Amino acid sequence: MKYYSTNGKAPMADLQKAVVKGLAEDRGLYMPEEIYKLPKEFFDDMAGMSFQDIAYTVASNFFGDDVDEDALQDIVYDTLSFDCPIVKVEDNIYSLELFHGPTLAFKDVGARFMARLLGYFLRRGDSAGNKTVNVLVATSGDTGSAVANGFLGVEGIHVYVLYPKGKVSPIQECQFTTLGKNITAIEVDGVFDDCQALVKSAFMDDELNKHMKLTSANSINVARFLPQAFYYFNAVARITEFGIQNSELVMCVPSGNFGNICAALFGHEMGLPIKRFIAANNANDVFFNYLKTGKYEPKASIQTLANAMDVGDPSNFARIYDLYGKSHERISSLISGATYSDEQIANTMRQCYKETGYVLDPHGACGYQALKDGLKPGEVGIFCETAHPAKFKEKVDAILGTNIEIPARLQAFMKGQKQSIPMSKDFQDFKAYLMQQ
Ligand SMILES: *Cc1c(COP(=O)(O)O)cnc(C)c1O
Repeated sequence: MKYYSTNGKAPMADLQKAVVKGLAEDRGLYMPEEIYKLPKEFFDDMAGMSFQDIAYTVASNFFGDDVDEDALQDIVYDTLSFDCPIVKVEDNIYSLELFHGPTLAFKDVGARFMARLLGYFLRRGDSAGNKTVNVLVATSGDTGSAVANGFLGVEGIHVYVLYPKGKVSPIQECQFTTLGKNITAIEVDGVFDDCQALVKSAFMDDELNKHMKLTSANSINVARFLPQAFYYFNAVARITEFGIQNSELVMCVPSGNFGNICAALFGHEMGLPIKRFIAANNANDVFFNYLKTGKYEPKASIQTLANAMDVGDPSNFARIYDLYGKSHERISSLISGATYSDEQIANTMRQCYKETGYVLDPHGACGYQALKDGLKPGEVGIFCETAHPAKFKEKVDAILGTNIEIPARLQAFMKGQKQSIPMSKDFQDFKAYLMQQ
């Protein structure tokens, strides 16, 4: 499979180059040249297949040309060492729980897959020579922990996590600042978009790229975002266990950088029977406005309760735009939007808890509410519960009056010592630091 850049000015790349480089030379995002439809028999059989087998079929469809069969199967099976179950919340509304991985957010799937794939390329020995590969990752909260934990102790790789000072939850912060080993946390005096801009500038800097081998583990990387398609296929397979058959399915994805929903859309292109999609946003409403007006106007991100979705210029918009031939009509006929203030998010969490007993986290709450507001008769909605509510314990307890339990694997992170490097949002400072490494 070859990958082209959404900006159209960079040479085509093979999978290995796309994964190792992350971003194309022209700052565009890599897109697979073709998206193959999966055969009808696969969809007929899916309900009887395991999550791992479903995922392997989807993975082969994208990566089968470029990765040995056995190795790909190992990577997929090892990535999915946990389940992504569907839970009924109320009539016609189901939660796709994506928080059962090691760092309790959906990003574990993409991060674990990418770490294993990059490790495979390094072992194969023809990508990096014997130079360390440096993974740069900007995080609004959950990416940092998923990537850091996915890559922890992987030989030949060093990870730099850039995060906005004071703008991630204490539990999120300790998940990537306490690990040590091959993980360095960089505390940027700015917002998430500043962190993302620093990472993008680093990739474009010739001097820096001569000095060290850099790659990105943000959802701009194809190995991060595509594997997220796995759990959408599994969701469609598992929903039949609730006696739901041939209903019109609506997939609702709480969105920030739009990597997660982008993977769902790729699944749809592969034939996944989902009728339509909803992108649920917090107060950061750039995509919502695009759907309304046809104009994409990025702005500075606003801090909200659902902080992992505080993105003012979502990277993967470029992929969605490209996927549908830059057609606003095609995009807005398949995807609708929703935007919620912090007050609305808190009300949703209280209402859902009171009426159903289900504890939503602030991100999942946007998804749930968008289904409550947007589901039409005859439709069945599935929203992604993108993180475990305990990751936002202070906020969730304050809103719901609960004292939710912190899972043991989350508690383990909180015992470590925080270590981070303070950094300004000026690229020259960041570059000077990396040039010394
Ligand atoms: C990252 C994240 C999101 C947003 O996902 P995107 O792929 O960036 O759109 C939503 N919820 C949680 C909990 C996250 O960590």
